[in-house]
Amino acid sequence: MQSTNSLITEFPLVKKLIDLEEVMWFNPKITSLDVGLPYVGLDAESIKDASERLRRFAPYLAKAFPETAKTKGIIESDVVFIDRMKACLEAQYQTPISGRMMLKKDSHLPISGSIKARGGIYEVLAHAEKLVLNAGILKESDDYSVLHNDSFNAFFSQYSIAVGSTGNLGMSIGIMSAKLGFTVSVHMSADAREWKKRRLRSHGVTVIEYEQDYGMAVEQGRLEAAKDPTCFFIDDENSRTLFLGYAVAGERLKQQFSEKGIVVDAEHPLFVYLPCGVGGGPGGVAFGLKMAFGDHVHCLFAEPTHSPCMLLGVHTGLHDEIAVQDLGIDNVTAADGLAVGRASGFVGRAMERLIDGYYTLSDERMYLHLRELSELENVRLEPSALAGMIGPVHVSNGAEYQARLKMTDNTLANATHLVWATGGGMVPEAEMAKYLAKSVQ
Ligand SMILES: *Cc1c(COP(=O)(O)O)cnc(C)c1O
Repeated sequence: MQSTNSLITEFPLVKKLIDLEEVMWFNPKITSLDVGLPYVGLDAESIKDASERLRRFAPYLAKAFPETAKTKGIIESDVVFIDRMKACLEAQYQTPISGRMMLKKDSHLPISGSIKARGGIYEVLAHAEKLVLNAGILKESDDYSVLHNDSFNAFFSQYSIAVGSTGNLGMSIGIMSAKLGFTVSVHMSADAREWKKRRLRSHGVTVIEYEQDYGMAVEQGRLEAAKDPTCFFIDDENSRTLFLGYAVAGERLKQQFSEKGIVVDAEHPLFVYLPCGVGGGPGGVAFGLKMAFGDHVHCLFAEPTHSPCMLLGVHTGLHDEIAVQDLGIDNVTAADGLAVGRASGFVGRAMERLIDGYYTLSDERMYLHLRELSELENVRLEPSALAGMIGPVHVSNGAEYQARLKMTDNTLANATHLVWATGGGMVPEAEMAKYLAKSVQ
């Protein structure tokens, strides 16, 4: 690998990352969807396929998880205005934010309370479907609610599933797999919260703990699975299936916006701020949004200053060939969902032309906005989920970026800024009290 000094000479921004400075980088190499799409290697048809699979499973989910009955087994979250939070940010950062601000509450998705209820659950369902179709014990045209029964549980118990996680992916995959009857083991990194491990064990999931970070947990999960031909490893670093589960969010949001009369077009741009760990969640959602709204949606990724893996990979073009630890950055952050040192090589390479920018922020800032959002909007999130909150301030201050997009003040006044809240809905009260106490003025 290139020495750190020569990397800094070529990319001065890397020095700031090493110094744990908060940075904002608008990628000058973004392209239109037409130009960028072929590099993704997936298309509208692949999202449609995922969407239809989720629809087939909806009757099953409605039965297996009664909390999804009111949406008929469709796992979806609300999108809400956050006017008071917007005013707070404007005052705090002395920056007028043109347009309106909204929050996408994936934090409150049913079953597992995070964005991982999209990709994680979807991949387990896709795997389960393949097994039963191959075995000839279910047809695509059947009512999948029959899966909620002892004989299917017994069938799935012959198979196992393994995954490495910082917490939330393990929760989604563990709960879903155990419900179907799979034997499931979750390899948890040191960042994973105790309550998530406890919750999983109570569902009959085997939790294996590591003192190392996410990369090691994934590697061990992969090794374990390789030894057992009946074990399916869910590969958060490379999986197209996970990615497509997340991507379904695009058409769902489009539908929600149209119900609320929110327009997205050339004169009404949509900016979306997504917390990024390994990249599958934000990458998949961004892909879905691009397919739904085309060039009128602009996605930005947010990472902790201690774990800027995607920014580092995309900015230097090294993608998964470099980890933040290679530069002496420790990957230790309160934002456990984002504590990833090496980005997905697949997502970075697939999506780099379609993501407008990347920024980093301190843990303190996440805690500050966590408390403000709780007080002002009565929405409680985990620290990772606040990474997007300062995004609209960056865009509002990004004069060069706005000029490059040829955005006038009039257009910006019609903008919608959507902060993707990625987790926190299931955090126990006592844990939440600790989060809230982290930031006292
Ligand atoms: C996993 C996670 C993310 C990021 O998703 P990646 O696929 O790892 O990039 C963001 N926020 C929370 C709360 C998460 O659990």
